Amino acid sequence: MKRTYNNINLQNRNSFGVIEQADRLVEFETADDLKALFSEERPSKWYVLGAGNNTLFTQSYNGTLISPTCSARTTLNDDGEYVDVRVEAAHDWDEFVAWSVDNGLWGVENLSAIPSSVGAAPVQNIGAYGAEVKDAITAIDYFDTNKLEVVRLKCEECQFGYRESIFKHKLRGVAIILAVEFRLHRTPTPNLGYGDVIREVEARGGATLRNIREAICAIRASKLPDPKVLGNAGSFFKNPIVDKSVAEQLLQSYPDMPHYPVPNDANSVKLAAGWLIDKSGLKGYREGHVGVHNRQALVLVNHGGATGGEVLHFAEFVCSVVHNKFGVDICPEVNIL
Ligand SMILES: Cc1cc2nc3c(=O)[nH]c(=O)nc-3n(C[C@H](O)[C@H](O)[C@H](O)COP(=O)(O)OP(=O)(O)OC[C@H]3O[C@@H](n4cnc5c(N)ncnc54)[C@H](O)[C@@H]3O)c2cc1C
Repeated sequence: MKRTYNNINLQNRNSFGVIEQADRLVEFETADDLKALFSEERPSKWYVLGAGNNTLFTQSYNGTLISPTCSARTTLNDDGEYVDVRVEAAHDWDEFVAWSVDNGLWGVENLSAIPSSVGAAPVQNIGAYGAEVKDAITAIDYFDTNKLEVVRLKCEECQFGYRESIFKHKLRGVAIILAVEFRLHRTPTPNLGYGDVIREVEARGGATLRNIREAICAIRASKLPDPKVLGNAGSFFKNPIVDKSVAEQLLQSYPDMPHYPVPNDANSVKLAAGWLIDKSGLKGYREGHVGVHNRQALVLVNHGGATGGEVLHFAEFVCSVVHNKFGVDICPEVNIL
């Protein structure tokens, strides 16, 4: 069943907590609801809004926001080792992770506590602590708003990359994800080689699923602001990928600069946007209602009362300071409307 709301206040539908409105919001449950919406009265401007943790409204949205409400989780197959699970788009991501951990299923534990709907998780291929959601995904069903039918993509067809997928490119403005299918497994495969994870896991008594989840939740809570307390969208910027020659030149001036190889691209190097912002002297810096978080420079925060326009203006300022100091362009990870 679909429900339509007009002139809707978006403050509780975006993790930045900015005060903006949308002309119309349509909640849908099934592909048939979407078929009805797009065949009867095709919206001229629309955007899929999940839980709003990666969306910055910079002004009132004069179009139709389309939001899923379907949230079923179904086990499709369990052969004793592998468990195939289908999860609908509006299901809370972390509830799914908690369920998998409670049931002894490995594959998504490192992605604990990422605020997301399941339907949005593949869009930017959410990742943290050395894991990416693509590694657990087997298939995705989406509604194609041009063909007016449900299309199924296998994982290898989704063009996943670092914070990337086909849904941000070829299928942007076309696909509305209905459900994601995952393959989880029972053989333990702890992935502890990132950041403080190993230390926190050992402090809890070793690499069990529960300890890994608890460790990651604790590390995240100590480093990242809770959007319910301080509006934010997690990492505001992507880590920039630069030519190897640019990285080598920067390393001469900044030998401690974090830098990482780019898989399958020997000529490029990934830099840490948070480090660049920090070294530009902006960690904790604040202008009016908006600032850089004082513990994690990659996170911009709404100290209360900010408009989306103010956040955008501040983000542009951060980019220009980093560019002037390092000659490197950093780009938003957040969807800016
Ligand atoms: C405190 C905090 C910490 C975070 N940490 C991380 C992290 O560690 N790693 C990480 O990768 N991200 C992180 N993020 C970003 C965020 O969690 C992800 O981008 C998440 O997937 C957003 O989910 P959402 O449902 O809130 O998406 P929304 O903001 O609602 O939408 C995000 C994008 O997905 C599209 N979309 C949403 N639902 C659908 C659908 N059903 N079909 C098609 N397109 C859809 C939207 O159109 C938009 O382009 C963090 C955010 C916050 C606030």
